[in-house]
Amino acid sequence: MIVVMKHTATEQDIEATAKNIEALGLKAVKIQGTERTVIAAVGEERVAGISSLESCPGVDEVLPIVAPYKLASRELKPEPTTSITGSLVCGNGTVGVIAGPCSIESEEQLMSTARAVKKSGASAIRGGAFKPRTSPYSFQGMKEEGLKLLAQARQETGLAVVTEVVSPDDVELVAEYADVLQIGARNMQNYRLLEAVGKSTRTALLKRGPSATINEWLLAAEYILDGGNQNVILCERGIRTFESHTRFTLPLATVPYVQQKTHLPIIVDPSHGTGHTHLVPAMSRASIAAGADGIIVEVHPNPDKALSDGYQSLTFQQFEETMQSCRTIAEAMQRQLGTF
Ligand code: PEP
Ligand code: MN
Repeated sequence: MIVVMKHTATEQDIEATAKNIEALGLKAVKIQGTERTVIAAVGEERVAGISSLESCPGVDEVLPIVAPYKLASRELKPEPTTSITGSLVCGNGTVGVIAGPCSIESEEQLMSTARAVKKSGASAIRGGAFKPRTSPYSFQGMKEEGLKLLAQARQETGLAVVTEVVSPDDVELVAEYADVLQIGARNMQNYRLLEAVGKSTRTALLKRGPSATINEWLLAAEYILDGGNQNVILCERGIRTFESHTRFTLPLATVPYVQQKTHLPIIVDPSHGTGHTHLVPAMSRASIAAGADGIIVEVHPNPDKALSDGYQSLTFQQFEETMQSCRTIAEAMQRQLGTF
């Protein structure tokens, strides 16, 4: 349910209403809108006494939230949320650009990439330190050593750090170094991981599972929001279909659809979404044209030698050219790329 407070409601009215909601066994989440405050009453909605909230001082109306995801829904918060994490801004006219290698492989590889992507106008550096690999025999990442390199890259370039966390036990460690905790496609329905990230103060980047519906994906985001972490960015990274020419199928209609359903910002991953370097520039531009709040792109100093996902990574030069054409598209959409 949404408890909509009157314009004239006082701070005491809001506090008292929140207490009444909690007395009904529901969780009260206050959302300060530009016009007025609403309080989400989250939990089992058929509890007796919910309509009694209508008579609380300062309450205008009590409305149901029809969507299964409550805190993520536009019904609760009609204005889009802008995610701001240091240099990375997604939303409100800014298209965030997260770029970097699939996996961190060495100091030289990460630092040279961080410098190059910053020069081309990226807003954040990405790089996997803990890698979820399909085969147990593939490179699993540099782990904490990789996290330290990411912190060094932030120190030198000022770029926010985005990196994946694969297990609830690692959230604390990864959050020591990272600004944004990426939840990978394979872990989208790892509910214990979602809960752990929900308790973190770091921004969450939630990738769509390759076979998850949009409802399942938004309910996964709901776990993080329900845990208390309000800074969640969604990422469309392609789904599995019968088509085998691309690694996954990248459905860009997801962007305007999701923007109708949720206030959360949504970015697109054209690297995993296509699995081919030569398709990444066009799909980066298309993502921005579709209204995405950002893109996340794999970039490597020498893709042929990459320990993971080299076939879908851009060289520094290709990234520079992609950024130039993306800037033109962003401007045509009355948006700007990055923050620098
Ligand atoms: C990645 O970003 O390198 C990655 C493993 O992504 P996904 O979870 O989307 O496959
Ligand atoms: Mn990758």
